[in-house]
Order: sequence, then C-alpha cells, then structure tokens
Amino acid sequence: MGMPETALIKQHLIDPEICIRCGACEAACPIDAITHDDRNYVVDVNICEHCMACVPVCPTGAIDNWHNVPRSLAYTLEQQFSWDQLPALLTEAQLAEFGAADMAIDAPLTQKEEAAQVAAAAEPDPSGETPFDSSAYNSTLPPWSGAHAYTNLYGPRAAQKTATATVTGTLRVTEVGKEYDTHHIVLDFGAMPFPVLEGQSIAVLPPGLDARGKPHVPRQYSIASPRNGERPGFNNISLTIKRVLQDYDGNPVRGVASNYMCDLKVGDKVEIIGPFGNSFLMPNHPKSHIVMICTGTGSAPMRAMTEWRRRLRKSGKFEGGKLMLFFGARTKEELPYFGPLLSLPKDFIDINFAFSRTPDAPKKYVQDLMRERAADLAPLLADPNAYFYVCGLKSMEEGVMLTLRDVAVQAGLNWDEIGGALKREGRLHLETY
Ligand SMILES: Cc1cc2nc3c(=O)[nH]c(=O)nc-3n(C[C@H](O)[C@H](O)[C@H](O)COP(=O)(O)OP(=O)(O)OC[C@H]3O[C@@H](n4cnc5c(N)ncnc54)[C@H](O)[C@@H]3O)c2cc1C
Repeated sequence: MGMPETALIKQHLIDPEICIRCGACEAACPIDAITHDDRNYVVDVNICEHCMACVPVCPTGAIDNWHNVPRSLAYTLEQQFSWDQLPALLTEAQLAEFGAADMAIDAPLTQKEEAAQVAAAAEPDPSGETPFDSSAYNSTLPPWSGAHAYTNLYGPRAAQKTATATVTGTLRVTEVGKEYDTHHIVLDFGAMPFPVLEGQSIAVLPPGLDARGKPHVPRQYSIASPRNGERPGFNNISLTIKRVLQDYDGNPVRGVASNYMCDLKVGDKVEIIGPFGNSFLMPNHPKSHIVMICTGTGSAPMRAMTEWRRRLRKSGKFEGGKLMLFFGARTKEELPYFGPLLSLPKDFIDINFAFSRTPDAPKKYVQDLMRERAADLAPLLADPNAYFYVCGLKSMEEGVMLTLRDVAVQAGLNWDEIGGALKREGRLHLETY
C-alpha cells in the first residue's frame, strides 16, 4: 500500500544555484533516481531511497538539501527542471494547513544532522541545547556593495560547454618538500570572455576517464587573482592548487585534478567551466572592512581580495577600511605566498600567522590568534561595514565560528543578534572543502 497523501516526507533536492553540473551524483546513484537535462540535476522522489551514495561525491554540497513536504505536494521532476533556485522551506504553519505537521518524519538524516547527532552523542551537552551549527550563519547573499557576478557562462547548460585556457605561468609557492607542494597557476582565456570577481571559483575538467570509464568529474578551484586579471588588463586568472598525494586518512593517493594541474607546463591547454559563486564576494564601498580567516589553499580568495584592495589603494581613488588576515598552516614552509605577504605594508593589512607544527614551538591555530585579537575583532563583529570570510579545510569551520561567537559574547555583545545580522546582511561567508 502507498503512503497516505498527507504523510510528511523529507524530499531530497539539489540546489541549482550551487550545483556545478558535474554529474558525480547521477553516476553514484545505484538506482537511477538522479537525472538531468541541459539545465538542472534533479532527484525523482518516486525512486530515491535516501541511500546517501550521492552525498559524499558532491564537490559543492548542492546535494545536501532535504525539504519536509506532504507526499501529495512533493516537487515533480518538471518543477525541479525549471528551477533557478530552491523553493523556500515550508513553514510549520503551512505544513499544518495540509494536516502534516504532527506526523513523524521517517527519513534518514542529512549530513549536517548526522554530524550534529554524532557530536552530541560523543559529548552530550549538559545544557540540553541544540548542537552548534556553523553553517547556520553562512550568508547566501553578497555584501550590498558587491559587484555583479557572472556565473555558469561555460558548463553543461550554457551555450558554450567549456572555455579553453592556456597556461601562461606556473610557480611553486611553497618551499620544496615532499609533503606539501602548492602551485600558483596562471590561465589565460585569450579572446574568450571570462569575467570573474574575487571570491568566485572555476572548475577544471581533467582529461581522461575515471575507473568506471566515465569522464572525470570537474574539480572546483577558487580564483586567486583580482577582477582585472592576474596581470592587470589581461584576460587571465590565477589559481592556488595543492597537489593531493594523501587522502584525508593519510593513505597515499594521487589526486586526479590537482596533480594534472600542478604538472602543467606553460603553453598547455586546460578545459574550464564556470565561473561559480555569487555570494562569497567582497564589499566595494569605501571604508568597508574585510576580515579573512583561512588555512592552506583557502588563502586563494583572500589573495584575490587583498590584491584588489592593494591596486585600489595604489590608484589613490579609494579609501578602504581595515583588512585583517588570520592565516593558518602546519609550518611556515607550507604557507602559500609567505614571502610576498610579509612585504605588504602594515598600515594596509594586519596579518596574523598561526603554525600548528613548528618544531619546538607550541601549536597555534587560527582560532588561537583570533582569541588573542578579540579586542580588535569584537568591534568589527558589531560593525555593519565589516565582512567576514572563512576559507580552507572543512575541519576549521566550526572552531572559527565558535571563536567568533565567544569573542562576541565576551565583549558583551548579543551573539544571536550579531549572528543573525552577519547572515542577513551578507557579512559572513564560509567556503570550506
Ligand atoms: C568551492 C571549492 C573551492 C576549492 N578551492 C580549492 C583551491 O583553491 N585549491 C585547492 O588546492 N583545492 C581547492 N578545492 C578542492 C579541489 O576541488 C579538489 O577537491 C582537490 O584539488 C582534490 O582533487 P583531486 O582531483 O586532486 O583529488 P581526487 O582525485 O578527487 O581525490 C583523491 C583522494 O584524495 C582525497 N582528497 C581530496 N581532496 C583532498 C585534500 N584537499 N586533502 C586531502 N585529501 C584529499 C579524496 O577524498 C580522495 O580519496 C576546492 C573545492 C571547493 C568545493
């Protein structure tokens, strides 16, 4: 017997605004519940069994969306194919109207819910409060003064499927060593239009086929150069790419895209899709402040923003606000752009480095530095002209957000109000991978 039409289901949906149409989810689905047209990837509610095989392979997190809807109102494939963005979640009042609010939801947990439950089980909170969810503060809105971002100009649903770029520069930006090898790669688009803003990303299509005989899925990389080019006036961008030689558990692997990119030579051609991202963008109004918190290659968008502000300052026509950078790596040798960063004027940018594995020195993480600088961070949290950006390892996200909360609370600020404002006003942006 089928489910009653008023039964509340947790419908699995893919966010068309974030999805880069790489096809990894469709390939991973063992029961063909995911399909696509030339516009969107969609999930068939009549087939999906919530097995979660598609969730870990998604490079962007677009896959991790679950909407409570009465069975009779489940979104059809036709509806999903027409979307440019996800519909709003139904409110409890709306669900109650359909007689569905009180019914139990018999569906698996999302990744976020599962992580929160695991954390709560490992460390039960004596206060009984809901576990901290850092992503709840992440804004999907750009700063009000952000410039217009072009997205998806090249990709499966664009008129032109890929842009071909030529490598015009490649440079190792970490000190030579076995474990860390990060390259600064410059790609030139020639006469192909490729407008970008600081904070956006592109995706690389590595040549060849994967183990299943299918084309490799695209891998995303943040743009490390400002809007008017790595070289001002040129139609080029730069990327900061770490060669992946170990998986997250430390086992030896050879990451497909990162090794392909780090091995490229000047003159080689690369297939690119994008640009992506319309919220992790910098403010453009005078005296706006920027707080950048990053680890490793998470420095790429911070380099782009810093360089744009440096060029504006040089022009003498823009009065920027404060720039604060918190930058973490295991050692200074592993830190991309260590040398050039040190030569930036102190009255232009306030740089704080944290190294977690320097021999004979105590471990320091970006959160430790943020606590040390709490007296400077607290006023910025309360200032509507200050914007916060976090980029780098997924594992840093929660610690950084908890630290921002502590900084606010210790300064006597109301975190619920501040956290709400950061999200509502496009003032906090998280990009971790
Ligand atoms: C929005 C966004 C922006 C990104 N920006 C950058 C960037 O600026 N610079 C950059 O270098 N990367 C960036 N990444 C990560 C990048 O997209 C790739 O995931 C990364 O380069 C690994 O791809 P690969 O093909 O080499 O490895 P794969 O072949 O995909 O993976 C090989 C193995 O390594 C593991 N693995 C994957 N990535 C890592 C990692 N970083 N550390 C350890 N193990 C890993 C995988 O789980 C797998 O087991 C970004 C990701 C996102 C979502």
